[in-house]
Amino acid sequence: MITTAAYATISAHSPLAPHAITRRDPEAREVLIEILFCGVCHSDIHQVRNEWGGSHYPMVPGHEIVGRVLKTGEDVIKWRIGDSVGIGYFIDSCHQCEACAAGEEQYCEAGMNTTFNGFERDGKTATYGGYSTRITVNEDYILRIPDSLPLERVAPLLCAGITVYSPLHRFGVKNNSNIAVVGLGGLGHMGVKIAVAMGAKVTVISHSASKREDALALGAVDFIASADADAFTTNARRFDFILNTISARHDYNNYLNLLRRDGTMVLVGIPEPMLLAASSLVLQRLNLAGSLIGGIRETQQMLDFCAEHRVVADVEVISIEQINEAYERILKSDVHYRFVIDMTSLKEREMS
Ligand code: NAP
Ligand code: ZN
Ligand code: ZN
Repeated sequence: MITTAAYATISAHSPLAPHAITRRDPEAREVLIEILFCGVCHSDIHQVRNEWGGSHYPMVPGHEIVGRVLKTGEDVIKWRIGDSVGIGYFIDSCHQCEACAAGEEQYCEAGMNTTFNGFERDGKTATYGGYSTRITVNEDYILRIPDSLPLERVAPLLCAGITVYSPLHRFGVKNNSNIAVVGLGGLGHMGVKIAVAMGAKVTVISHSASKREDALALGAVDFIASADADAFTTNARRFDFILNTISARHDYNNYLNLLRRDGTMVLVGIPEPMLLAASSLVLQRLNLAGSLIGGIRETQQMLDFCAEHRVVADVEVISIEQINEAYERILKSDVHYRFVIDMTSLKEREMS
């Protein structure tokens, strides 16, 4: 067992604080990874604060991990010491069900094993995430990071990037598609960048009027301030597709009103439950869908797409000591546009 420095919370109402965990020496098909950077996703906050229920503590969050291979188990074939690698929202799944066979491990019928706030396949060993200095993972659940991209700006691709790429790709967004991205946070800003790289005409819809300039600089062709009294009437029936990344409770019906006949809104944000009127869908034959991260194969495809199009996240790099303050800023929609923790700051302390 390898003692590893981490930051954990011990309850839904406690701040994150230093905490020691142990990692396994890699078994036959496992890889030990030195964590260099970890992105901060709003899902970390939802779970730290038990907003989805079922959280267990102590919890070490973090699921946008990039690092380097430190050691490989004897039967590992895909990875070598020193490789740049990534880990996203899950570290294992059953390997046998239809979803796993289809490369959609996130929908594993036996339940994926999440990178943190979950359990390994034995159902009892708690998983601890990327706010730590090392992690041991099965070689099939690791992503290759293209060497051409800066690591700290790649970390957010491992969750935010794949979560928006997957529905944009699946629902056929392409050259000249007329789409809206709702919510300009971590997921939203990646949604704009990736959709623009796919050739779409993107409008950003935001409750923060101050983000107009940023939205246009990211490549959007237009910006709608959702707080404007007439925003939902003057833009009615304007878009073919909406990617909704809002993390807080809001009225879905208003956004559905912005879709043209046969349009689709995909929800990726996971706020508390809200009411949906059947007429919001029925009257224009609309589709309302959801999407959860993406499988390993599709995540690798997304990373390769981002390398080809030079798409990376806009990040504010922080040290682990700034994490509690960063959470408060995320809750105020004040992040431009992803916090990424430099985990070497914790490693240095571990050594001294
Ligand atoms: P984030 O960086 O905090 O961005 C969320 C954005 O939502 C904010 O920047 C803000 O954008 C908007 N927003 C916040 N409060 C709002 C309110 N009261 N009314 C209207 N808009 C509001 O969060 P994130 O990391 O992108 O995550 C977004 C959501 O996706 C979270 O619920 C997260 O758990 C979920 N998520 C889902 C998946 C999946 O697989 N489906 C994966 C990762 C994350 P503006 O300031 O532009 O309005
Ligand atoms: Zn996430
Ligand atoms: Zn499975």
